[in-house]
Amino acid sequence: MTLHRSNHPLVAHKLGILRDQTTEPKKFRELVRELTWLLGYEAMANLTTRPERIETPLEPMTVARLEPRVGLIPILRAGLGMVDAMLELLPSAEVWHIGLYRDERTLKPVEYYNKLPDAATVQVCLILDPMLATGGSSAATVDILKQWGAARIKQVSLIAAPEGVGTLSTAHPDVDIHVGDLDSHLNERGYIVPGLGDAGDRQFGTFAGPASEPGHGPDDQTAEVVRRLQRDHAP
Ligand code: URA
Repeated sequence: MTLHRSNHPLVAHKLGILRDQTTEPKKFRELVRELTWLLGYEAMANLTTRPERIETPLEPMTVARLEPRVGLIPILRAGLGMVDAMLELLPSAEVWHIGLYRDERTLKPVEYYNKLPDAATVQVCLILDPMLATGGSSAATVDILKQWGAARIKQVSLIAAPEGVGTLSTAHPDVDIHVGDLDSHLNERGYIVPGLGDAGDRQFGTFAGPASEPGHGPDDQTAEVVRRLQRDHAP
């Protein structure tokens, strides 16, 4: 298992503002974008290049061109906020959508949208999700991408819980996991603690849904799933 936890002071500084409950959606979105640049830069540090001859205005030279085709797979909906930033780093990347929602009671991923073509069109896939919480959606997405034929898969998240890292790395030890920070644990509702709350709601300003109310849940089944994850991935 390869867990890359950023130790860059800019990442730490921006995460501090992102986590603050007084940070409003506009600022929150800007920070998600900036953090995605920084983590994306780190996650792509070992992509291979091939030599290519070009001519500068002064003379010919050999330059480096990125070799693999890269696919971005945002985990809906919070991962959408990371796509544009990644596309700014890598404009030629393809964006593929796989719709999985987290059943709020079982916390298990349920697939509702998948339009991947028959054969993989990219060699490297970056799964984008600001919060690696239970790891269920990511592990299920990796299953789908491997079946598709993706040769190399990386997860990029702003914040991870140990339980999510454990689930993903147990199911798929070959997947590199890049995170801005590793938090303490999941609570009984499946939220990362201390975390930042609901990354989707905080980006998109959707605080009115029942799942976002501070007093909501936990329901017994959700709490049991989290207890199992905590048992399975205790340090
Ligand atoms: N998804 C979120 O948005 N926040 C969490 O803490 C966990 C999952």
